[in-house]
Amino acid sequence: MCEKEKIFAELLSLTSEIGVFKVKIIQTEKVETDKSFRLLCESNACGMYGKCYMCPPNVGNIDELMAQIKNYDYGLVYQTVGQIEDSYDFEGMLEEKKKSYLITQKLRKVFENLGILKVLHLGAGGCGVCDKCAQQDGLPCHFPELATPSLEAYGVNVSNLAKVVDMKYTNGQNTVTYFGMVLFSLGEK
Ligand code: SF4
Repeated sequence: MCEKEKIFAELLSLTSEIGVFKVKIIQTEKVETDKSFRLLCESNACGMYGKCYMCPPNVGNIDELMAQIKNYDYGLVYQTVGQIEDSYDFEGMLEEKKKSYLITQKLRKVFENLGILKVLHLGAGGCGVCDKCAQQDGLPCHFPELATPSLEAYGVNVSNLAKVVDMKYTNGQNTVTYFGMVLFSLGEK
């Protein structure tokens, strides 16, 4: 097993241990982006447009963010799956989303501990680190080292990504599924 394969095996093993449902590593050239996702954010269905540093428009220009993805060699794609009471259980969905945010932060440690420093964490919809983003009070970000933009903010087509990694986009009745991805390179490019 070469050094890269050993690191990948370790990454997959450690990621599985922190409670993800499925995980897979792919080359970033397989990650499809689409700038039209910015229009979805602009429709403000989630109510966070312009209210978080990690959400549009604050997070940055969509073309520049999509281009950033290509600066990394690999993407560790993961999904979390949680149980909810029914499709109207918005509280349950929020609780499960918070759990996915915790997984994202645990993954930061996994990469740090393996000495993989060129990373970009993309999570499931919004930053989720603070209950209220500092942006709403005109203050600097409270935790810039933890702040996490979403896959969609970077124009990642998540349903297509699910197909690429052979994971289901949804996982059955009374469950909620969230995706995240850690872009990384082994050594500097
Ligand atoms: S870490 Fe807190 S203050 Fe910074 S972008 Fe995230 S939610 Fe906002």
